[in-house]
Amino acid sequence: MIDVALGVDVGGTKSLAVVLDATGHVLDESRVASHAESPDALVEALSRQIRQLCEVHDLDVSTIPLGVGVAGMVAIDGRVAFSPHLPGASGAQVASGLCASLARQSTVVDNDANLAALAEGRWGAARGESHYVMVTLGTGIGGGIFTESTLRRGAHGFAGEIGHMSVVARGERCACGARGCWERYVSGDALTRRAREEVAAGRAALLAARYGPALTSEDVAAAADAHVPEARALLDEMGWWLAAGLANLAAILDVSCFVVGGGLSALANHLLPATRGHLDGLLEGRAARGEVEVRDAVLGARAGAMGAALAARERS
Ligand SMILES: [Zn+2]
Repeated sequence: MIDVALGVDVGGTKSLAVVLDATGHVLDESRVASHAESPDALVEALSRQIRQLCEVHDLDVSTIPLGVGVAGMVAIDGRVAFSPHLPGASGAQVASGLCASLARQSTVVDNDANLAALAEGRWGAARGESHYVMVTLGTGIGGGIFTESTLRRGAHGFAGEIGHMSVVARGERCACGARGCWERYVSGDALTRRAREEVAAGRAALLAARYGPALTSEDVAAAADAHVPEARALLDEMGWWLAAGLANLAAILDVSCFVVGGGLSALANHLLPATRGHLDGLLEGRAARGEVEVRDAVLGARAGAMGAALAARERS
């Protein structure tokens, strides 16, 4: 049998599974609607998708290395303890549930951004780096902390929930239930909110004329591509917020680079140059510290699933 592993990344709308060889090549993939409306539905849908992919490739579903990534706080035992953006998945016993339904001995389950960090470190933007943080921007912010050549999982598996660093006292309400979390200021939702605030306050006449009061983050990105200064200013502002969080992480972890990926990559052309520009002024001891790089992720939407397969190969 060929030497492959299977990795799955469960997102808010779709579940992406890949068949990965030992060198990081994706041999096949399947995308299905994710079913995170309840813990049981999540495990059943995952079982079905994994079984189908194994049947197509004549792989033994009970023995193939299998890894699964899920957004949120994933415990060391492979349980989704709490997932602000997949609330129905909270409590899902993903590892033990898949082992039972697929007659397996072990299944690796981890936070999706932790797994993306592994893949970017092995085959992507952080290849060869020993100290970096993967930052995934989308509905919220996910994180994977890799220091001293080790992925940090913490006491319970919950390390790297960087989107929920508190950055504003009594700030915007977050899906996690707290206020002022970093991801409320750096996300598609945040950009949409800020753009609508500017339009409502009469400070963005060009955006208002183009898109009206219900404009979205995608509209802002398109306007920035078209050199609309109000859109550029909003992205510069978000770049500052991104840099502020990265500076906090650099102060705590002393990493040499950040890899930024996730669903907001359409904004990267505008966002990351702004972030790099602001970061220098926010870092403690910039001259003594040396450069802290902010890199584009290179593996795209497959990073989490690839990392899941990689972790399965190495942990099982
Ligand atoms: Zn939060």
